[in-house]
Amino acid sequence: MKITVFVLRPKLKLFNGEIMSYTSDINRKLIGTKMHKCCSFACIYGLLLFGGRLSDGIKYVTSHKEKCDFLNKTFLSFSSGTSVVEEKGESFETEILFDTDDSELSALVSVSPHRIDTKYIESDCCKKAFMRGVFIATGFVSEPEKPYHLELKTSHHTAAEDLKKIASEYDIHFKSLVRGGRTVLYLKSSDSVKDFLTLIGAQTFTFEYANADLEKDLRNEINRALNCESANEDKRLDAAGKQIKDITVLKNDGYRDVPQKLIELAELRLQNPELGLADLGQLLTPALSKAGVSHRMRKIAELASERK
Ligand SMILES: [Zn+2]
Repeated sequence: MKITVFVLRPKLKLFNGEIMSYTSDINRKLIGTKMHKCCSFACIYGLLLFGGRLSDGIKYVTSHKEKCDFLNKTFLSFSSGTSVVEEKGESFETEILFDTDDSELSALVSVSPHRIDTKYIESDCCKKAFMRGVFIATGFVSEPEKPYHLELKTSHHTAAEDLKKIASEYDIHFKSLVRGGRTVLYLKSSDSVKDFLTLIGAQTFTFEYANADLEKDLRNEINRALNCESANEDKRLDAAGKQIKDITVLKNDGYRDVPQKLIELAELRLQNPELGLADLGQLLTPALSKAGVSHRMRKIAELASERK
């Protein structure tokens, strides 16, 4: 059977000539993964169903040369009876005519473009390979340092619903929305993004996410500790401010009827407004515990309030 594949390359660029993105790094890894024949078919099926067109011949549009080469190579790997009969076209559009005796490959021309036909992806390995193909075709994932976001797109709403169901078998639950007439399936949690990448064979990348998680946790912890410390500091300075006000009241009154012990503490406080009570206690002779200093401060406050 003759199969024509149109590969349209609107802005043909080499991978190494384009802006490197995290997603393209992952794609390069996925494209290089060796697959069984059953999985190769499932992967190509996912790639074409979500990223191409499967009616009136097979049409696949990409600006990535590596994806185009991957498609060609995979087609040719199906059977020794598969070959390129003709390849013609200019830089923007290539038309490749394959001849094949492979029944599955031939079936691609007549599969529904709207639904996922599960008879082609019955085994576990093939379901994962199918999702790998979908990701290669339309996937996007944010860099590990950014908020977690992984998405897949398709113009076929029903196929998106089918894919959701397949992913849920692996406990990965996509949410969906419609953007620009296309259905977008997305994941936002760190665990689900990592689980999906592992599922499609990009587990090496999940380590980077795990590292980023640790870093984010550590940063949060440090911030929490800093906030907590500065909150305590604020409280301490507030308290010291109030003590100094009270002391000023007494001092302006010439420390009249104020016991010597309290005057001593009051003067120390005026000289050391930044110190905590425990440290202030250490400056007294003899040294006094934090509780003791606190008790004397309360006395000072009482005396001050009587004279205000
Ligand atoms: Zn398989």
